[in-house]
Amino acid sequence: MIIAERKPLQQIFEMLKSYRRIGILGCGTCVTVCMAGGQKEAEELAAALTIHRRREKEPVEVEAFTIERQCEYEYIEQVKDRLAGYEVILSLGCGVGVQTLVERMPELRVLPGVNTQSMGYPLEQGVWVERCLGCGDCVLHVTLGICPITRCAKSILNGPCGGSSGGKCEIDPEVDCAWHLIHERMEKMGRLSELQAIQPPKDWSVSHHGGPRTVVREEVKLDRGQ
Ligand code: SF4
Ligand code: SF4
Repeated sequence: MIIAERKPLQQIFEMLKSYRRIGILGCGTCVTVCMAGGQKEAEELAAALTIHRRREKEPVEVEAFTIERQCEYEYIEQVKDRLAGYEVILSLGCGVGVQTLVERMPELRVLPGVNTQSMGYPLEQGVWVERCLGCGDCVLHVTLGICPITRCAKSILNGPCGGSSGGKCEIDPEVDCAWHLIHERMEKMGRLSELQAIQPPKDWSVSHHGGPRTVVREEVKLDRGQ
């Protein structure tokens, strides 16, 4: 899932200060799960904004509502007329949601209400951890399911580096060394000898370093008759 955090309230108030009729649009998928931008957060933000404007003696009409996914045209289409009725939309979707809204409705003013951070999962209540950088050429089969691209600060493929100490990374004594974890897991599974194989340089052209990526699946396009 995408992990995001709501922007600081003051920053949101500042972004919206010149608008009176405001729609706060939540997203019902990833940002709902990470409690940054679902219906509950959209309503809380609408209430906070209303109180702020009252204190400032500035008028505001604000409504909060949520669609299933802001990153798919089909869901945007269902509320297109409603969206068009606001001066501005504060999107609580991730950066993909904001851009999908703008691409589908170019005339719409859309502002980001959350900071999109990473792809990961909830480790425990209130804690979300990053686990994938979308590198375009997954190596988890080599590293037994632990991602060195994301979890190693240097994204190295033949670790650990000289900064690994006591199982921790040199960037922070609280951060596990990814290669220490990989080593431990290899040992536990009786596959330690596999670590002797030198991994070749990674092809970063299929990651974001090669520019924005597009996935095309011809058989799906054909299935849809496009
Ligand atoms: S190797 Fe690449 S695709 Fe696989 S989990 Fe890591 S970043 Fe994601
Ligand atoms: S200490 Fe471990 S996680 Fe940190 S940069 Fe070195 S190999 Fe990567």
